[in-house]
Amino acid sequence: MTALDLQVVQPAGTARTTRDRLEILAALIHAPNFDPLFRSEIIDIPRDHPVYAWGCQVPRCERPRRTSLHLCADHHEQWKQQRAAESSKGNFLASAHPLPASQGIDRGWCLVCPERPVFSVRLQLCYTHMYRWLYTSGTTLSENDPSVTTTNPFQAWIRDQGPLPGAGPCRVAVCPETAACPMGLCVGHRARYKQQGNPGGVAVRRRQRSAGCAVAEVVDEVAFRKWCQSEEPIRRTGQLNLIGLRPLVKAEIQWGLFAHAHPAEGPE
Ligand SMILES: [Zn+2]
Ligand SMILES: [Zn+2]
Ligand SMILES: [Zn+2]
Repeated sequence: MTALDLQVVQPAGTARTTRDRLEILAALIHAPNFDPLFRSEIIDIPRDHPVYAWGCQVPRCERPRRTSLHLCADHHEQWKQQRAAESSKGNFLASAHPLPASQGIDRGWCLVCPERPVFSVRLQLCYTHMYRWLYTSGTTLSENDPSVTTTNPFQAWIRDQGPLPGAGPCRVAVCPETAACPMGLCVGHRARYKQQGNPGGVAVRRRQRSAGCAVAEVVDEVAFRKWCQSEEPIRRTGQLNLIGLRPLVKAEIQWGLFAHAHPAEGPE
């Protein structure tokens, strides 16, 4: 008895239906009346969007609201206590102090390099400039308080530095971020890679410490690539990432978002 290669046969109409629907949705999405906010693979919803608002209701609070409560987790807890004391929500919103974002935020760009993301938040420097500063100052990262960036020695050192070119996109297939370290990963995926035990064994070797040079060496390139292909995006507050979805799924989501936000423009 021999084994046969059996191929999955799609119902005759399925592929055509998918193609026809994708063509219709593509035409609708590229029509002039379609909201360009939903046309991209990366959809950044404004904090106070009229339909998809995600920000906490406390003015200037940078944290996302919890579903249906319209307050972030911390303000929700505060509101529960004040409500028990029979305070009005209006009074609470007027007196609550806004909170800074704590997760899913953009770290911004290196003080020196406009194309390199911040690696050290406390120094506001990219990976290479962070190590250059630590070498120059003879300090460790934990010895640098964020206020060091306002000191004269730091400012003088910054003025002597030249910008470095960007390191290209993060190697994770669905990630829209810029690579922030010699491994070719963004800050979020670098942290996740280490949490997962370095699949493929990529390690960074620092060379010429005065220049902040470093190279990444990999033990198992295939395993590392596989990890990069299968890893999920880093969560960003207010952002929908459609990279890697099938074209029809992507188009359905884009159209669905638009139709829900603009019911007068949707199908009758
Ligand atoms: Zn809040
Ligand atoms: Zn830099
Ligand atoms: Zn990434």
